[in-house]
Amino acid sequence: MKTQNFSNPNFPRSEDLNWGAAGRFDKVLVANRGEIACRIIKTCRRMGIQTVAVYSDADANSRHVRLADEAVRIGPAPARESYLLISRIIDAARSSGAQAVHPGYGFLSENEAFAWACIEAGKVFIGPSVAAIRAMGSKSDAKALMENAAVPLTPGYHGANQDVAFLREQADLIGYPVLIKASAGGGGKGIRRVDASGEFEAALMSCKREAAASFGDDRVLVEKYLLQPRHIEVQVFGDSYGNVVHLFERDCSVQRRHQKVLEEAPAPGMTDERREAMGRAACAAARAVGYVGAGTVEFIVGPDGTFYFMEMNTRLQVEHAVTEMITGLDLVEWQLRVAAGDVLPLRQEQLAIRGHSIEARIYAEDTDKNFLPSVGRLIHLMPPPESAHVRVDTGIEQGDEITSYYDPMIAKLIVWDESREQALQRMVAALAQYQVVGVASNIDFLSRLVTCTSFVKAELDTSLIERERDALWREQSVPTSTVLLAALAHLLYERREILPAAGDDIHSPWRHLDGWRLNGVLKRRLTLLHGDFEFFVDAEYSRTSYCMTLNEHRYMVSGELTSDGVTLAWIDGERVRATVFKHNKALYIFADNCCCAFTPVDPLEYLVKASSDGGGLLAPMPGRVVALLVKPGEMVTKGTPLLVLEAMKMEHAVIAPEDGFVIAFRFATGEQVSDGSQLVDFERSL
Ligand code: ADP
Ligand code: ADP
Ligand code: MG
Repeated sequence: MKTQNFSNPNFPRSEDLNWGAAGRFDKVLVANRGEIACRIIKTCRRMGIQTVAVYSDADANSRHVRLADEAVRIGPAPARESYLLISRIIDAARSSGAQAVHPGYGFLSENEAFAWACIEAGKVFIGPSVAAIRAMGSKSDAKALMENAAVPLTPGYHGANQDVAFLREQADLIGYPVLIKASAGGGGKGIRRVDASGEFEAALMSCKREAAASFGDDRVLVEKYLLQPRHIEVQVFGDSYGNVVHLFERDCSVQRRHQKVLEEAPAPGMTDERREAMGRAACAAARAVGYVGAGTVEFIVGPDGTFYFMEMNTRLQVEHAVTEMITGLDLVEWQLRVAAGDVLPLRQEQLAIRGHSIEARIYAEDTDKNFLPSVGRLIHLMPPPESAHVRVDTGIEQGDEITSYYDPMIAKLIVWDESREQALQRMVAALAQYQVVGVASNIDFLSRLVTCTSFVKAELDTSLIERERDALWREQSVPTSTVLLAALAHLLYERREILPAAGDDIHSPWRHLDGWRLNGVLKRRLTLLHGDFEFFVDAEYSRTSYCMTLNEHRYMVSGELTSDGVTLAWIDGERVRATVFKHNKALYIFADNCCCAFTPVDPLEYLVKASSDGGGLLAPMPGRVVALLVKPGEMVTKGTPLLVLEAMKMEHAVIAPEDGFVIAFRFATGEQVSDGSQLVDFERSL
């Protein structure tokens, strides 16, 4: 059997792998949504396996539904009433005739009742046995098991006694700081650090409350809190014939709130001896529970390299992609084949690492508000182009919505190259190309993270984000003049394109509101807001370009709008390509390797608002009428410029406050008007 190197075309193709002859499934139900559902469907398609998607009402049109061969509705949006409802998913498996169920990660992937229900319904659960899920489902039981398998454990107490005084005594014995962990915990929930005996009881109570609420089980364990540890995990794989291999390690130390943000493989600084020792320990952990399929053994590693078993995740991991990139293997294919009864195709000594891979989780979240998820529609979404070096796993497309029902992950961005330095450069470049408008995203934060000193130097530990606070949450950055000027070029050239519709004499110089004058130059002050910053730029018009003064520097700027919101600007002769989107009142500019949101302060809007009460439009200031742009009686839409007033060497268009028509102009071209005089009689259309 030949395999295609799905994950990374840098690896030689058609390597002979010794799969058994168990055959394969014809149809698989994917019991998940989003990115992982799409990921599984992709491999099934390549292997010629039919797929059945399941979806909630919120996902009826989502990408995983479109990619699958069939799709079954399983309920309303809340996960409890759909993706977590075992009976509905089993019904879908039955009615679609799928032979096997892939649970993905999250949701029911580590739920023993679900695995059992699949088996009872005569479907293969793509994952380990019910017994293995149960054994590893409790962190306490898992630690007891690992103790017997001689896998090194973090010093601590993981027994059944939950008496408060007893647990505190154990904590005192371990020595502070300690960590209280919910035995049934996951996803970074139900974890409390305690620094002194006096704080123990309160932390215990709070941890138990959270554990009871999140997992319906308030049992806890207590263990030594390692200072500045690394999170290094080992990917393991077992088959039904007792073979177990490991596919090397991943470093997932870069975390926020005990949750991974960046993952990479191999772990920087890993020696062959330590890799071998950790791999051996991970395989021993898997063997101890007769593990079949893909699993991950997580270790916490002290600064001296000593490693301790933390937990085993009995499923495919979010970050499995980095392992695929450095091994050239498709782990979902391995899962599907092993579940169908095939033998593992490679022995440990046939496995090798090539290159380096880094993954960043792209989240819809506000990194300035403690990573609060951000919901909304993605009005613009452009990931970097995929290549041999860049992979984007996603379940979301432009126009889709991030809702509060599910995890706010937009995508996983995965890069690969021969060395860590090169991979890092790929990541920096790919993040700079990633464009998201409509929700807050962590992309800028990730860009700062992958370029901060600790990460660049691979000084990794779980406190990295905290330690690099100043670099990661630096003062709001000031946009470069290039970005500002590109934004203004966009605004000005956009107006040039829109305005001709307002006039009827094509030879009139006022047809273009670009400030061209027969004699002299005209200036206009433009204001842009960016967060707390306000920028003023004075623009002087000449026939082909603008001279813009920003912070006392003068720049010659011209521009051109092309299709798809791209603006080409020439700033002092240098060409700048900017992609521009408008959302609500904000203008999003992607240029100069960054994204900036501006709010243009439109003086016209303000002036018209101030003067439009009472059916007439008033002069906002003394000046001279220089152009009448519409004919009396002609229907105009709201915002159409009606006349141009020149005052203090600046021009001001007076625009229609509503859809309607001009009854009469009170002044002719060239006439002076005084402040507050009525310029136009305007009637709103009904
Ligand atoms: P979860 O099930 O939520 O993933 P883990 O036991 O895997 O819980 O721990 C999550 C994270 O908490 C780890 O990745 C690590 O950052 C931190 N952590 C866990 N145990 C320890 C420990 N003993 N000392 C220091 N940090 C720890
Ligand atoms: P990991 O250590 O790999 O991050 P977690 O236990 O935190 O593992 O969860 C794995 C992933 O599963 C999460 O990052 C998230 O993307 C997804 N996930 C977890 N719970 C849910 C859920 N209730 N709904 C949707 N996705 C979930
Ligand atoms: Mg964990």
